[in-house]
Amino acid sequence: MPFTNRVFSGIQPSGDLHLGNYLGAIRRFVPLQDTHECIYCVVDMHAITVWQEPEELRRATRELTAAYLAAGIDPKRAIIFNQSRVYQHAELAWVFNCVARIGWMNRMTQFKDKAGKNSENVSLGLLAYPSLMAADILLYKATHVPVGDDQKQHLELTRDIAAKFNNDYGDSIEANGLDREFFPITEPLITGPATLVKSLRDGSKKMSKSDPSDQSRISLLDDADAIAKKIKRATTDPEPLPPEIEGLKGRAEADNLVAIYAALADKTKPEVLAEFGGKGWGVFKPALADLAVSTLAPMAGEMRRLLGDPATIDSILAEGAERARPLAEETMRDVRRIVGFVG
Ligand code: ATP
Ligand code: MG
Repeated sequence: MPFTNRVFSGIQPSGDLHLGNYLGAIRRFVPLQDTHECIYCVVDMHAITVWQEPEELRRATRELTAAYLAAGIDPKRAIIFNQSRVYQHAELAWVFNCVARIGWMNRMTQFKDKAGKNSENVSLGLLAYPSLMAADILLYKATHVPVGDDQKQHLELTRDIAAKFNNDYGDSIEANGLDREFFPITEPLITGPATLVKSLRDGSKKMSKSDPSDQSRISLLDDADAIAKKIKRATTDPEPLPPEIEGLKGRAEADNLVAIYAALADKTKPEVLAEFGGKGWGVFKPALADLAVSTLAPMAGEMRRLLGDPATIDSILAEGAERARPLAEETMRDVRRIVGFVG
């Protein structure tokens, strides 16, 4: 491939894909295809860190692949595949489990959020999740990862793991004639303003696949009617929209709807407020609903069309894995030598 920089990113096939996944991740993946070599993974091994019904996991894997394709990721340019097909992810994750420290894992806010008070009873995989994520990225020596705000801490940990591996095994890396910076210190890629979309029911929580309430998120497969209804029912306060951005302080739900409008319209929040400042929800919500329907409903339609032909989706994943495997094996061959595995 002609690019010097390589991007890796992955999304878990678990639960309902939603507007936050689209605005915060999938949509940002598309333009990177013009400037970077891109590897976009369906991280099914991450999905089983919490219980997944096997049939549901298969469905969600195809749904996420369909979303990548419908959003404009081109499987001829980018490599699209599901993680479990390339076993080197698991192999490198094991090595990283032995490089990373338990204290590092215990500090991860996502683990604390997901485990809650139940931290003794969640899977060991949920605790080790960041090690597998580091393996995903470093297996391909990705130079850049487009990350949402909620994933920044995991990328920092990936950098820590890379640095500790390079340092702990420094002598062996050198003895094998390899570059001292064997694993790159991967950089976050910030493209445009970071939109962390919040729940439609509670502006203090992020929109999330794992939220039990379907009303909290706009799913990428929602039809026009469902999108409009969810926006109309979204929690707000009684005040009209402020004319200036300062007026959104302390109004998390209002801020969220303005941010969604801005992201979908490719505008800034002040531009949106210049248009809607002083107007009430009776004006803003229908305008937002129209905008959301016109941008998201065609994508939902394309996803449904693709999902009608699962054999084509499966063959795209299989071909992507064929392209990923030699890259992964090239790294693992060196890692086995560096660590001291015979064979
Ligand atoms: P879960 O609740 O299972 O963690 P999730 O909705 O957070 O699911 P992930 O698979 O963890 O989804 O994240 C996929 C990608 O979507 C990540 O790049 C993440 O940064 C992004 N993302 C997730 N939620 C949001 C959100 N509310 N706003 C913006 N980006 C988001
Ligand atoms: Mg998440």
